[in-house]
Amino acid sequence: MNWEQLEKLVDGIRQEILHYKSEDKQLFASSSFQTHSLPMLHIISRIDNTIPIYFINTGFHFPETIQFRDKVVEEFGLNLLDLHSLVPKSQQRNRLGNFYFTSDPDYCCYLNKTQPMEPVLAKMDVWINGIRADQNANRRSMREEQMTPQGCLRYHPMLHWTAKLVFEYTKKYDLPKHPLDEKGYVSVGCEPCTRKFDLESERESRWFGMNKTECGLHTELIEK
Ligand code: SF4
Repeated sequence: MNWEQLEKLVDGIRQEILHYKSEDKQLFASSSFQTHSLPMLHIISRIDNTIPIYFINTGFHFPETIQFRDKVVEEFGLNLLDLHSLVPKSQQRNRLGNFYFTSDPDYCCYLNKTQPMEPVLAKMDVWINGIRADQNANRRSMREEQMTPQGCLRYHPMLHWTAKLVFEYTKKYDLPKHPLDEKGYVSVGCEPCTRKFDLESERESRWFGMNKTECGLHTELIEK
């Protein structure tokens, strides 16, 4: 894809966001601040950098992710908001005294990711979310616009962007890279649930051996 075609895609996203805004919709985006998240954040910053960007701060992130997030926020001039679990970490342990991610990662993701997002979904109108269809089989069945059970519309502007397209955009704008990329990580989430690069699938770098590919934020949209 040449540069002109890429900018056409960006223009389509701009039109969509301006359309929502013309209808007085309250928009927000969420990001895990990985290298591949940056084209969407950069595009949003070019359109309207006042749009709130929520970072779901589980407390289990790599310190490198927090540093990278802060650098990107400053560079792009983003309006960052941190979301935290309402349940203190002292109450996030199983009967053996270990954190839930060791025994029940779904519940850990619920407490630290899904539940903190619920009030946001209840009050906002449009959630700009950077999922891509080529990330795993679940995401291939998703659509560009989908309603959440809370009545907030999910808008997936990057759904049909490929990893190659993301790479091209990143290169064109010389976007920064997550410091863990060069150490062999391709999909960086919470530290306990992330492992290094796997040839089979980008998302299998997460929750290895746990029969889990999503954190729960996206599973409600999977069409069975
Ligand atoms: S990714 Fe792992 S540590 Fe993070 S919230 Fe989910 S289970 Fe817990």
